[in-house]
Amino acid sequence: MRVATGDSILGGVAIGPLRFYRRRRDVFSEAPSGLTPEEEWERFERARERSLEQLSALYEKALERVGESNAAIFEIHKVMLGDENYLDSVRGILETQGTTAERAVTATGDNLAAVFADMDDAYMRARATDVQDISRRVVNNLTGAGEEELPWEEPAILVAEDLAPSETVRIDRGKLLGFVTRHGSAHSHTAILARTMNIPALVGVDIDESWEGCLAVLDGHSGCLYVDPAPELLEAMTARQRGDRKRESLLSGLKRKPNVTLDGASVEVFANIGSVGDVGLALENDAGGVGLLRSEFLYMEGEEPPDENEQFAVYRRVAETMAGKKVVIRTLDLGADKQAACFDSGHEDNPALGLRGIRFCLEHREIFKQQLRAILRASVFGAVAVMFPMVASVRELRDAKELLEECREELARSGAALGDLEVGVMVETPAAALIADELAEEVDFFSLGTNDLTQYTLAIDRQNPRLAPFYDAQHPAVMELIRHTVEAGHRHGCWVGICGDLGADLTLAETFLRMGIDELSVPPAAVLPLRKRIRGMDLSRKKG
Ligand code: PEP
Ligand code: MG
Repeated sequence: MRVATGDSILGGVAIGPLRFYRRRRDVFSEAPSGLTPEEEWERFERARERSLEQLSALYEKALERVGESNAAIFEIHKVMLGDENYLDSVRGILETQGTTAERAVTATGDNLAAVFADMDDAYMRARATDVQDISRRVVNNLTGAGEEELPWEEPAILVAEDLAPSETVRIDRGKLLGFVTRHGSAHSHTAILARTMNIPALVGVDIDESWEGCLAVLDGHSGCLYVDPAPELLEAMTARQRGDRKRESLLSGLKRKPNVTLDGASVEVFANIGSVGDVGLALENDAGGVGLLRSEFLYMEGEEPPDENEQFAVYRRVAETMAGKKVVIRTLDLGADKQAACFDSGHEDNPALGLRGIRFCLEHREIFKQQLRAILRASVFGAVAVMFPMVASVRELRDAKELLEECREELARSGAALGDLEVGVMVETPAAALIADELAEEVDFFSLGTNDLTQYTLAIDRQNPRLAPFYDAQHPAVMELIRHTVEAGHRHGCWVGICGDLGADLTLAETFLRMGIDELSVPPAAVLPLRKRIRGMDLSRKKG
């Protein structure tokens, strides 16, 4: 057994033979064709027209498979093919070098790819693959070679140096168990498409030609590829895959079905995630959005806090991958049990009652502003919302909003693009619940953090296992605070959700719907079981 590692794009297990996908080399004559530059330009124009038609067809296909915002890459390709710089470069090469259209297009693609590859911005760097992809398409249309076919009949794990978005979306999903590439970044549209198409994949793998045809296990959870797996490993992974499939098939009948009760009441069911890696799970489980992105995990990964650009890249990727569905980013909620090596918070006698959540951020304004700027910039790429944790007073909320406004103005002055951003408060202190009317005047939504709300209402340390028998999240006091928050929020036009663990409690779902809760955000795997419960409820019947 050989083991290789890479960056996982999506969790999940794929088992099957490895097949190499090698792009056909574009073979065309280097010799002058004997045509005039104007005639070569006309050939180029015809091939470009054909390419634009193919891209429109690919857009339609992608729209069906991965939704509008992910399909948009093919619209971008069309724009690139009409870009003046691109066209000027092809024409210039034709006129000055008297060469063929194939040569001029290839040189243009290579030159522009090199320019993109040199850029500082990771997003722009990833565009290098796109410009080469469109150029290859035009050349194939010039030579009449057409689109490349996949070289195998049976389902397999594809191994390639790199994969372009158009290749990823063209591959018959039934024949693609997963893929492994040497190059490619998690920023690329290929990665976004793979996540959305729910294909386990690893990038950055040191691939080896000798693997062709070998049986392999791609473990997207650990980022490992096992080539010629040992029998015990194969058995364990097969069992894991079987378990996953059984669970999936039981619930998959509920995908794309609305979260509507028998009497027609509806509620949003979103997913809670801790990282970009979880987005695939949210989509796989058909969550209607991300109701809680626990951003602090980003800060807990390394010795240094993530800078604005690193955070922006993560938030943008989540927003893009969620393809227009709401993504609620909770601002840094460090403190108590969540300590980050990159900040020394010093000793606190009662850390659960200490400098946590919004308090920490208001004490570390520069760190907070970096995050707010990253969130504001990401708001262009989807339906992003920001939410402040551990708020206990209107003053804290206003301070946070003031900093948000400051960041918005700074970014606007620097010419950055900004989208719409909903602003919300996490209601997880009894104080916030009790002043919900005043808080609601300041925001667009509330999300109830019932884990902390229970801890602070019942004065029970949620970390202390000895207190487990006393930790009653259904305590009437907690339920009353939830009801009060929903009513206050609605009085002021806010939508109200629950993102604490109680939201996934199937025995309480009916109670929450009767209270008028608008959204329940739960772990990805809890989305479909909750949908099943909701679809079996009848709120018009008296509660028994
Ligand atoms: C909560 O407190 O309910 C919550 C969702 O936040 P966390 O569990 O991350 O504190
Ligand atoms: Mg909390």
